[in-house]
Amino acid sequence: MTILDGKKTAQDLKEEIKVAVSEIKKNGKRLPHLAAVLVGDDGASLTYVGSKVRSCDYVGFDSTLIKLDESTTEETLLKKIDELNQDDQLDGYIVQLPLPKHIDEEKILLAIDPTKDVDGFHPSNFGRMALEMDAFIPATPFGIIELLERYDIETSGKHCVVVGRSHIVGRPISILMSQKGPAGNATVTLAHSRTQNLAELTKNADIVVMALGIPEYLTAEMVKEGATIIDVGITRVADVNHPKGYVIKGDVAYDEVAQKSSAITPVPGGVGPMTIAMLLKNTLFAYQRKG
Ligand code: NDP
Repeated sequence: MTILDGKKTAQDLKEEIKVAVSEIKKNGKRLPHLAAVLVGDDGASLTYVGSKVRSCDYVGFDSTLIKLDESTTEETLLKKIDELNQDDQLDGYIVQLPLPKHIDEEKILLAIDPTKDVDGFHPSNFGRMALEMDAFIPATPFGIIELLERYDIETSGKHCVVVGRSHIVGRPISILMSQKGPAGNATVTLAHSRTQNLAELTKNADIVVMALGIPEYLTAEMVKEGATIIDVGITRVADVNHPKGYVIKGDVAYDEVAQKSSAITPVPGGVGPMTIAMLLKNTLFAYQRKG
């Protein structure tokens, strides 16, 4: 059984990006620059944004963290977005989700200049991705594709079951794996909360991608011998024995499923670290595109 080590692969990717940045530096050029907008004080969001900024520093990108008050109005945020769109020194930026309830997320995503949308959430990028055109691909599915490729997991002609149809994970990975591109050419079934007999589907799958957010949902009896398992889930589960008061669990009952699978991503250390690495990769693409 192969552990698809996202932590190591993400580190390899960061080293590759670091080399590209030192080449840029050597030529005396402007450095790639990523900004992150965070509205409010949500603990998990602060952690995610913090590690994105630290990763930028690590590879040598310029980074800007824009922290706005929980009470920031939609109008103020839209003004900030307009400024970021106009900023010539900025290659890409992200608006950390979720946003406070009084702000319309869709309105904000639509205001982001698609050429700076390194999260790949703008409909223009999503549509381009679905049409197999040049686009920013959302970092989590992009990370899964990269991981499958780097570990030489055969996807062509395989049956892949994706569980979860969110716009940021399930749906885009189902599209990418059914396309002709890297880690593609699979026959994909997209399952969700209305799917009947889910276990029948997963039991017949060569590859299962779990992206629903229910800890340890996929058990050994739901998978076939030799399957590849990708676990996207990240849920904080209370644990009094842990100093933080919680542990992170994936959507897969790892210990029992690992014994049956031929390859599996752990949680933590699987898809999670790949997401940040691919955001950096998208930022480098944005920089290179600007020329
Ligand atoms: P969403 O909550 O947006 O979507 C969950 C999906 O799972 C929905 O499509 C839902 O179906 C489906 N679902 C819920 N219950 C069931 C069920 N019992 N059987 C089958 N399908 C079900 O989640 P996200 O895609 O945003 O995130 C999924 C998980 O991945 C979360 O744990 C999240 O924290 C994690 N995540 C990890 C990332 C990483 O970097 N590793 C990045 C992003 C997310 P329906 O549409 O019918 O409601």
